[in-house]
Parts: sequence; C-alpha cells; structure tokens
Amino acid sequence: MKKRQAAPRIHDALAGANVTLTSDEEVILGTLRTLEELLLAEWLGEDPPYRVIRESRFWRKVGNTALWSAKPDLVVVRGDAALVVEYKTGPLAVEDASANLQLRAQAAVVAHTLPGIRRVTVAVLQPRCCPQITRCAYQPRDLKKALTEIDGIVTQAQWEDAPLRAGPDQCRYCPAKAICPEAHAEVAALVTTSSEPPTPAHLAVLLDRCVLAEQIIESIRDHARRLLSADPTAVPGWRLVPGRNRETITKLQQVFERVHRPGAPPEAFIGACSLSKKALKSLLEGVTRERGSLLDARLGSVIEGCVEVSQTRPMLERCSGAAR
Ligand code: SF4
Repeated sequence: MKKRQAAPRIHDALAGANVTLTSDEEVILGTLRTLEELLLAEWLGEDPPYRVIRESRFWRKVGNTALWSAKPDLVVVRGDAALVVEYKTGPLAVEDASANLQLRAQAAVVAHTLPGIRRVTVAVLQPRCCPQITRCAYQPRDLKKALTEIDGIVTQAQWEDAPLRAGPDQCRYCPAKAICPEAHAEVAALVTTSSEPPTPAHLAVLLDRCVLAEQIIESIRDHARRLLSADPTAVPGWRLVPGRNRETITKLQQVFERVHRPGAPPEAFIGACSLSKKALKSLLEGVTRERGSLLDARLGSVIEGCVEVSQTRPMLERCSGAAR
C-alpha cells in the first residue's frame, strides 16, 4: 500500500480515518485536537448548534463556470457565520492568518458558496510553531473584496504571457516544482561561478535559492518514490528500500522488573532512562487537566534545575516580513 506523507495522514486521522501514525505524529495530532477544541470553545461560546464540514472543496462559480476552488481542512458553520480552519503540521511557521492569502481565498469562497454566510473567521492551527493559533475575522465588505482580489489573481495567472516567478514561498506547496522550468532556472543560477565572495545582498538571494533547491530536490525524490512504488523498475539504477526502524522502549515497568531481578538498583535504572518534555507535559496535562500557559508554568516548575541544555550550531532563519 502506498505510504502517505505525515501531513495527509494526520489530516486523515483528524477527519476520523483509521490511520497508523508514528509516535511524533500522535503528539502533533493530540496537540491539534487540543488547539481545535480551544478554538471551537472560544468561537462557539454558548451558542450552538453548529455544522462541521471537513476536507470539502468549495468552488467559485460564475453561472455554470467554475473559476477556482479551495479546500479548507475544517469549516464550522453557525447561523450566518463560518469558522475556517487550516492545519499546518510542518516545523515552519506560516503567515499569520490576517496576512495569509490561502486563508483569504478560503474565507471568500466559503462565503460565496454557503448560503447566508456573512461573516467568516479564519484560523491557522500550527502545533509545532509559535504562536500555535492565529486568527482573523472577515466582515461582509472584506469578503467581497477578498473574492475580487482572488478572482483578479486567478485571471492574471491565466494570461498567456503571465510570468512565472519562482521563489521559496510561492513554490513551497506547488506540485509543479519537479518540472517547472522557472524554478529550475532559479536554482541553476546558484551554481554560476564567481571568483569574488558574494556581497551580503547577493548572499540573501543565494540563501533563498538554497531553500528553493532543497524543495525541488525533495519533490524530485517524492516523484521517484511514487514511480518506484508503482513499478520497482521505473527508475534505472534506483530502487525503494524500507525506511529505517526506530525502536523505542515503551514498557518501562516490565523492563525495570527484568533488570531489577539480576540486581540493577532502581536509581541505576532511572539514571539510564530519559524523559522527553513532550511526554512529561502530556503526563502533567492528564494529571492536572491544566492547559496553555498554566500547563507550561507547571512543566517549568517541575523540571527546574533538572534539565541539561545542549545547543546545536546556529541556524539560518529568514526574518519575518523581510522583502524577497
Ligand atoms: S514551481 Fe513554477 S509554477 Fe510552481 S509556483 Fe514555482 S514558479 Fe510557479
């Protein structure tokens, strides 16, 4: 059976499908469910009933002509209002909901499609980034403006001479990356030689190209994986081999009893174990029923003075809001 990537598997699990997740994905799923609950409780207040629509495609139509579409992860409808939620399970923070074009399109098309919707709140839930929830409310006038804006973008993109502008932001989720000449040209420009070290301004351009190159490399590998899983001889000289197994000891009590019997003292066993902050946090959450900043404070006081910190080498990160 073809193995789906982590994000779609987590989305499937949220939609109620029976999927097998890794332990890391389970943690992301648990956090997403908690964030979703918090958001819904805040948005619904004391005012149910409401309707939930998951993973449904909404079409912008003019007459019988379908112009464009969007597929939010979750739409909750209550009266004349809708809540549109997008899950982002990756490690990179996406744009705040108020500046996020994808969510603007979703808000516009949901209001366009569902009868009687006049107000839409959009929210991004990103369990691995900070802030974990961002949201933005669209009023009727904003929704009308957003629909016109997205119509304009789609119209321009369909012009014969519409230029392709490759870059790490716009190409990140584009399925055409593996074959797009513009994206490839941008990356090819990385390897033009120069005897001079790059200026700081040129370095900024090169770093963007590095990000795009990594995205393209991964999309090429994904493409090869798809071909090879359908036909093991599809790519000359390459084959698919099973991924590495990661073993985690989960039944600590049982293991302790087995090492204690031949003489290992409890303190030696505890010294050989390690506990992740994630696991401790979810343990504390289960015991105390606390959440958010209260839970963080509890975790902080529990581990105070008991943590060893090691740091990897500094990472390069683009400043938010910096011009490309
Ligand atoms: S990969 Fe090509 S088509 Fe896709 S967004 Fe980038 S430039 Fe546009």
